[in-house]
Amino acid sequence: MTKTLIKNALLVTMDPATEDLRSGDILLVDDRIAQLAPEIHVDDAEVVDASGMVASPGFVDTHRHVWQSLLRGVAVDWSLFQYMVEMRTMYPVCYGVEEAYLGNHYGAWEALNAGVTTVVDHSHLQISEQHSDALVEGLKDAGIRGIFGYGVYRNPRYVPGEQIDPSALIVEIAGPIETFHRRNAERVREKYFPANDGLLRFGIASSEFFTFPSMEPILEELAWSRTLEPARITFHAAIGINGDVDIINDLSAAGALGDDLLMSHANCLTDEDLATIAREGGWISTTPDTELQMSGTFPVLERVVRSGRMPSLGVDIVSGFAGDMFTQMRLMLQAMRFRHNEATVPGGLPSSVKYAAADMLKYATLGGATCVGLQDEIGSITVGKKADVVLTRLDSVNTAALRDPVAALVFFANASDVEDVWVGGVARKRGGELQGVSWGSLRDRVQSARTKIDDRFARIDATAMRRAWEPVWGIAEDASLR
Ligand SMILES: [Zn+2]
Repeated sequence: MTKTLIKNALLVTMDPATEDLRSGDILLVDDRIAQLAPEIHVDDAEVVDASGMVASPGFVDTHRHVWQSLLRGVAVDWSLFQYMVEMRTMYPVCYGVEEAYLGNHYGAWEALNAGVTTVVDHSHLQISEQHSDALVEGLKDAGIRGIFGYGVYRNPRYVPGEQIDPSALIVEIAGPIETFHRRNAERVREKYFPANDGLLRFGIASSEFFTFPSMEPILEELAWSRTLEPARITFHAAIGINGDVDIINDLSAAGALGDDLLMSHANCLTDEDLATIAREGGWISTTPDTELQMSGTFPVLERVVRSGRMPSLGVDIVSGFAGDMFTQMRLMLQAMRFRHNEATVPGGLPSSVKYAAADMLKYATLGGATCVGLQDEIGSITVGKKADVVLTRLDSVNTAALRDPVAALVFFANASDVEDVWVGGVARKRGGELQGVSWGSLRDRVQSARTKIDDRFARIDATAMRRAWEPVWGIAEDASLR
C-alpha cells in the first residue's frame, strides 16, 4: 500500500461539497484520494509539505495532437490552409518510428509537467503498424491518463525527396477510411487495450467528416468505430466550414448521436445543433488558441454552457502553442469578456466584467472529466476519486504575493510553477522535477529528432504542395501565404 500525505495545502477542490474547505490535508492511498480534512494524522505515509502551495485536481485536455510536440513553434503564424499543406501532407512523412515514439512520449511529459494529468490524444500519425505501436507506447511509458484516439486519416506515404504528384496526393488523402486502418485499429485495440479500462484507454479519431460530400461514409465509419467500443470517438467539427451535409441533424435522424462522441471546435454549429447534441448526446472541446488564430467564427464554449452541457478545453496543436491549460483558460476567458464588452458597450467601458475565472477552471478540470466520461473518477479532489492531484507554488517570482488560489491558477501560474503532479497516486513530478524519466537524455533525443525531421522536411517541394492545395481552398494563384 502506498500512502502520500499532502499537508497544509490551499485547496481548490472543484467539488461543490468541499469548496468551503479552504486549506487542509489530502491523503492519497494507492491510486485513490482516501481522505480530505483540515488535519490528517497518519504514521506510515510519505509526507509532502504543501504550505504555500495550491492543491487542485489535474487538468483534463480534451483535444491535443500529442505527436506534434517535436514540431514546437512551426505553426505560430499559420492559417488553417498552411496547416493543411504542411502538417497534413508534409510533416507526417518526416516521422520515422522513433520520432513517433518521441513525439508522444515527450508530448506526454510536457503535459504532465504543466499539471495536465489526462489528455485526449487525437493521433493522426498512424502511418504503419510500427508507428501506431510507438505512439501508444510513448504515452504509456510516461504514465499519463487519457484516451489514445487512433486517427483513421489517410496519411501521405511518400519519401521526402521523392518525385510525387501533389494534386494526386491531395485527392488520395481525402478518400474514405482505408482497410489498413480498420485492421490496424482493431489490432491496436486488441494488443494494448484488451479491457479498455486502464489509465490509457482506446478511442477513435475519425476522418474529417465535415469535408465529406454525403452522410453514407460517415455513418458507415461511425458504425465500424462503435464495434471497437472506444472510450470516445473524437472528430474535428466545423471549425470554419459547415460542409456539404447537415451533419448534426443527419446524425440525429440516423440515431447516431451519443455520449461517446467528442467533437473538437464546433464553432460553426448553430444553437439548434447544440441543443440537439445536448438532448441526444455528444461533447464539445473548445481550443481557444487554434480557433482564435485560424477560424473566422468565435469559440463556442459559452453557447455550449447555454445549451445545458458541460464544455471542456483543449490545447490542440502543440506545434503552435504551449502544452498547458493555464494559457487556454486565460485566453478563452478574456476573449469572451471582450466579445461581451464589444456587444454591450461598443466603443465604451463596461461597468462590470462578465464571466468568472472559477468557471473556466471548472471547464479545464471537471468539464474535461465529464466530456471523457470520467466525472466520477477524476476532475475534482473528492474522496474516492483517482489521485490525480497537482500542487502549484504560491511563492515563485510569478506568484509570491497572491492570496487567491483560483486567480493564481487562471491568471498567473505557468508550467514552471507546477511543483508536484500525481497521476493515480504515482508521482510524475516532485519538487519541480519530472519523475521516472531522465529529462537530460530525453531532451537530447528530442533535439536530435527535431534535426532529423527538419532535414527530411527540407527535401520536400513546399511550393509545389502549396500550389496543389490552392484550388482546393479556392485561393487564387499567387495569393496564398502573402
Ligand atoms: Zn485538432
